[in-house]
Amino acid sequence: MISESEARAKILESVRPLPALNISILQALDRFAAEDHFARLPLPTFDNSAMDGYAVIATDCQRGSRLRVIGEQPAGVDRKLRFSKGETIRIFTGAPIPQGADAIVMQEDVTRDGEEIVVNVDVEVGEFVRKGGCDLSDGQRILSKGEQISATKLALLASQGLAEISVGGQARVAIISTGDELAKTGDKLRDGQIYDSNSALLQSLVRRFGADVGLAEHCRDESESLRKTFQRAAANEILIVTGGVSVGEHDLVQQTLRELGAKIEIWRVAIKPGKPFLFGTLGGCFVFGLPGNPVSAFVTFLQFVRPAILKMMGAADVDLSKLPARLDVDLTNDGDRAHYFRGKLDRGNFLPIGRQESHALFGLSQSNALLRLEVGESRKHGEIIQVEIW
Ligand code: AMP
Ligand code: MG
Repeated sequence: MISESEARAKILESVRPLPALNISILQALDRFAAEDHFARLPLPTFDNSAMDGYAVIATDCQRGSRLRVIGEQPAGVDRKLRFSKGETIRIFTGAPIPQGADAIVMQEDVTRDGEEIVVNVDVEVGEFVRKGGCDLSDGQRILSKGEQISATKLALLASQGLAEISVGGQARVAIISTGDELAKTGDKLRDGQIYDSNSALLQSLVRRFGADVGLAEHCRDESESLRKTFQRAAANEILIVTGGVSVGEHDLVQQTLRELGAKIEIWRVAIKPGKPFLFGTLGGCFVFGLPGNPVSAFVTFLQFVRPAILKMMGAADVDLSKLPARLDVDLTNDGDRAHYFRGKLDRGNFLPIGRQESHALFGLSQSNALLRLEVGESRKHGEIIQVEIW
């Protein structure tokens, strides 16, 4: 049995980023940038008006000034209008500031009188002028290699005129749930059967973290069908098998993988839940064997599969986010493995929720954070701890 950090390091050493590819920025949401990006246009791209109003020279313009309107500057063209003392130009939001103007008086603050306006306020230099480059300078870094592309970062790329972007490849993941006791959702449940919930869990998690589900199947605890299914599934970059990785007579996953020539790198990790976790390679496919118990499958997915998927897809940061929280109970790990407690993080407080056993799916479904305690670690009510969120 190896430690959790050893297992994680070994997995992250083994997996390599997939080749990058160019895609439309509209397809790039949640993907990872394959290179650094720098602004090639400042934002605002040119000095422009923040209001519908009148462009003026601030020093030429006090409360009560009368100015002659000598032209109109709409958004979308630059009419290159010029004006001098005693004059003004009608202007609209987003329109380029005419040369010589240094302030905008908004239309609500003037009285229009034929071809003239009367200014009803004091005017300061720079008022309602959006200065070119005040938000973003030319050459400034806008996206780093390995950074995830959010909707707002995607908008920033679009502001630069970028139609395509190079992103890390998308991992295809095969998910196989094993177990003679499993029935498919929608089918009738016979005595002694349970529904396969891990398949739904893992398909959702795989998609949530940006990978593609290449195949999702159920397989009986039977060598021949396992063999055939594994062989097909190995065409994907990643294979996740749940169930059958423990030590019972019906746990045939490891043996079958070995018969197919798989290299088993890890089996059993000092983590609770999730001890029977397995990791290896079958040809070019990375194989993750997760215990069948839903909570174990969930925790081992988050701690071992998720970082591998993210690294393959080119992510720079593969760790779960951590948040500080106030512990709402006393908690001790008196077991012999690092323990992940499932709990609810609510307004800065963390409280373990539901039964803390590896089969307890309901409690898991109510949780939104994990607290990891080392062997022997003890935390007191009211202490500030770090919890992981997904
Ligand atoms: P195993 O890892 O195959 O020994 O299974 C451990 C426990 O998890 C058993 O109680 C199984 O019935 C349960 N289990 C296995 N696979 C699934 C699954 N796909 N969905 C829900 N429970 C499962
Ligand atoms: Mg089983």
